[in-house]
Amino acid sequence: MSPKKKYFKTPLVRAEIGRIRFPKMCPVCGSPATTDTLVTVTPGRKQYLSASWDPVYIVPRLRRTFIRSHEMVRFSVPVCDYHNYLDETEWRYKTLCLISDGLCAVATVLAYLVLGGTLWHNEPIPFWVVGMIMMFVVFMALTRLAFRPNPFQRSFGIVGFDAGVQNVLFKFKNKKYRQAFMRENPMIAELINWIVLS
Ligand SMILES: [Zn+2]
Repeated sequence: MSPKKKYFKTPLVRAEIGRIRFPKMCPVCGSPATTDTLVTVTPGRKQYLSASWDPVYIVPRLRRTFIRSHEMVRFSVPVCDYHNYLDETEWRYKTLCLISDGLCAVATVLAYLVLGGTLWHNEPIPFWVVGMIMMFVVFMALTRLAFRPNPFQRSFGIVGFDAGVQNVLFKFKNKKYRQAFMRENPMIAELINWIVLS
């Protein structure tokens, strides 16, 4: 199978992990940064492209055994107060969402059973059954909202790492920020328009 190329309309930024200097600018709105936020990524999990995305150097398959997959990569990213990304509270919210969704799903199944019974016997539908089904819909909508990427994640995307976890591939939505990043890291960063997927 020949390697597939994936093209990007917005150029990605590739940079050497250990030497990155983030501009003192918020990646979301571009205003001067007032605080730092910690971004933790685990290469080898979800965000890691196991394929070699490097257009210059295609890593042989064998080298994959050397991937340090359990290592965490941390970036301290300057950000404005308003777009400070609070990882922990978000996780708590998401967990709560999942638990309440589960309970709600059970109750909704019961509600449907009752609904089936009342329709069968031509009885009026109990109020709580309607309420339960409506609540389920609302909960689902809230969950969708909770799992949507926040403004920071949408502006500061981490697309992947190379096989040796030496370089990281960023996707910066804000053009001003991308330019500032390139100015800040002239020696170790480059713009990339396509990657190779194997
Ligand atoms: Zn901001």
